[in-house]
Amino acid sequence: MKIFNLSMECYPVAKVGGLADVVGALPKYLNRIEGIESSVVMPWYNKPFVHDHSFEIIFDGWIHQSHHTFQVQVMKERENSLGFDLYLVKIPGLLDRDNPYGYWDESQQFLAFQHAVLHWLSAMQIRPDVLHCHDYHTGLVPFMIENCPEFRFLKGVKTIGTIHNGEYQGQMVWDMAKYFPWFYGENWGLLDWNGYINPLTTMIKCCTAFNAVSGGYMDELFQDFRGLESLVQQEYLKANGIINGIDTEVWDPYIDPFLDFNYKKENAEQGKWQNKKALCEEYGLNPDLPLFSFIGRFAGEKGADFLPEIVWKSIQQSQGQHNIIILGSGDKSIENELSSLNASFSNFALDLGYKEYLSHRIYASSDFLLMPSRVEPCGLNQMYAMRYGTIPIVRYTGGLRDTVEDISTGGSGINFGSASAEDAVNAIHRALHIFKDRDLMERLVQTNMSFDFSWEKSAEKYLALYRK
Ligand code: ADP
Repeated sequence: MKIFNLSMECYPVAKVGGLADVVGALPKYLNRIEGIESSVVMPWYNKPFVHDHSFEIIFDGWIHQSHHTFQVQVMKERENSLGFDLYLVKIPGLLDRDNPYGYWDESQQFLAFQHAVLHWLSAMQIRPDVLHCHDYHTGLVPFMIENCPEFRFLKGVKTIGTIHNGEYQGQMVWDMAKYFPWFYGENWGLLDWNGYINPLTTMIKCCTAFNAVSGGYMDELFQDFRGLESLVQQEYLKANGIINGIDTEVWDPYIDPFLDFNYKKENAEQGKWQNKKALCEEYGLNPDLPLFSFIGRFAGEKGADFLPEIVWKSIQQSQGQHNIIILGSGDKSIENELSSLNASFSNFALDLGYKEYLSHRIYASSDFLLMPSRVEPCGLNQMYAMRYGTIPIVRYTGGLRDTVEDISTGGSGINFGSASAEDAVNAIHRALHIFKDRDLMERLVQTNMSFDFSWEKSAEKYLALYRK
């Protein structure tokens, strides 16, 4: 079975969030199953990975967008270093930039990517069994293969649409239709949602099957999906929930090259302490105090706007009996508020930016990882935390519900109910009590490190969906 994953991100080539981790791991694990050939197709970015690896150009062609003509090059990585075939699509002048997102013409970029991929596959007569489209950026592919005569060679190819984050739908004005490959006009309704082109709704309407990245999140989408509830309800027969796994070969405290000290379950207490000591020394924190952390995008979905209040309230209430370290970036007002707290609270350390190596060190060093998310489709941080023996403190939502059970019901994490600073601070107080009980802490660390979040199980579920 031949599967092409179409995505804007893939770890370690280009990562903004969890989408990259998933696309960088799922095909690798699927390829270990007899008869499966899963590969990744993504845009070319000006990134170190691209310059440090060798690629061959396997296709050179042209696409037309409105009155512009763009060159398209498809490059294949020579060494297969990631455990799957990696194809990069380069469109000079449009899709050859530093980062996946954030450009004024990104709708046009995503359209061009989808157009270019389908043009290449059609021209070279490559007919996969499944086109697996990740998020709205590739959500128009199921429409295009059925409705654009240029891609008639691909008509009937099965498509899976995975919703990694339903908050982003890619809505655009109808004027953008001029950038589409030519399509049969009578089917325009498949593109439309409330007077706009909405690629996420098109994906749901046109794909063979779709899934959310956890069962809990799929359930929530039926109730509240930014106005798309009625659509998923109508399309319920195509809906699935498949929880993400984590790449346990990348995320393993025993071999992780980013850690100051490697450790496994047997010496977790000592190993975590050594990492914590090194990190705390670097950031001027007292390692004897419990260390809480947050890693992520400063966005409303992540509850990052609660962070400033969580920091000052919890540290004041505990009278400086715990430390907090935050790694992230995003909303400038949150960055500014946290920066000024950083200047006035010695128990609080802040590192603004995206730092892969530091995230690994923080997962290993922390006693508790905080996730006050409003929305969390799956969430990977809590799984990385548990793998590194850190206790997750999570709001009870989406994938966090599916992966973290509260200590009070026999689990090894802390849940809290409402998305608010107050509930998060109360949860920190619970954690401070737990921290005082060394035996309980040790038991929780051991239990969390024993969980199997590896991709094998989730890859099997995707395979079952492909086969269906
Ligand atoms: P998202 O909604 O951002 O995709 P996920 O929990 O699915 O959230 O995945 C987040 C991923 O991004 C994790 O691998 C996390 O460690 C990483 N990450 C987020 N912010 C940062 C940062 N500032 N520096 C390093 N890694 C980060």
